[in-house]
Amino acid sequence: MKTNNTFLFSIDLEDVRENVENKHLYKDRVIENTQVYLNWLKQHQSKCTFFTVGKVADVHPELIQTILAEGHEIACHSYAHIPVANQTPEEFRIDLSKNIEALQKAGCTNIKGYRAPIFSIDKRCEWAYDIMKAFGITYSSSVLPAKNPLYGWPEFGQEYKKLSNGIIEFPISLDRFGPLNLPFAGGVYFRALPEFLILRSFKKYFRNNLPALSYFHPYDLDTNQEKFMHSGINNNKFFNWLMYYNRKNLIKRLDMVIALDARITTYSEFISKL
Ligand SMILES: [Zn+2]
Repeated sequence: MKTNNTFLFSIDLEDVRENVENKHLYKDRVIENTQVYLNWLKQHQSKCTFFTVGKVADVHPELIQTILAEGHEIACHSYAHIPVANQTPEEFRIDLSKNIEALQKAGCTNIKGYRAPIFSIDKRCEWAYDIMKAFGITYSSSVLPAKNPLYGWPEFGQEYKKLSNGIIEFPISLDRFGPLNLPFAGGVYFRALPEFLILRSFKKYFRNNLPALSYFHPYDLDTNQEKFMHSGINNNKFFNWLMYYNRKNLIKRLDMVIALDARITTYSEFISKL
């Protein structure tokens, strides 16, 4: 299939304060930040997929309704944002069930997709796909197909594929930067790597007729967020500095990707054309 510069731009719709110490001391900026992405998508007449944490849907059902009304797709991103590899199958089942329930309560129907928190599905928790299937999930974007100290699954390979139970897994796009294989198209990597290298990687994917998969968070473009230590980075000051790095240029960089004639689409739309 010709993928025509497909850019599977997606948002992991979550509250950056989740699991942060004293989170309620800081402002909830989910709506304001998400609105910037919605405006940008509208400007480019594009629809994308929002992988949404159940807790966010509980707190901001009106935001979910706005996203749906503007024609975007809503998919799952867990209820409590705990890595899958740190859960038992039963804990995962309960979390996914709560995620779906929260999305439905906010107005979503026909929920088809799932993304694991921090791409945390690897060989150890392949069982998660059968649980997804039982809930009617038909695709997932939950694997980091590289060596990683926490959750990588290098043997998965870098191309999307249909698993034996029928679910299609879309591992995050990677490219090689010196000795490292990095998810250049999302989050902190997209902000921190030099612009020309990012664009080179996108061009490589498009040239090889592969969709470029990305993930962004509401905070990735937030230049007004208060300063605090983010969760999940072991109190590492350098990583925390990177969390804030170059947020001001995120939209400018995304515009440069669009200028490569990239076409944003939802996961469901992409799958419907396979
Ligand atoms: Zn997430």
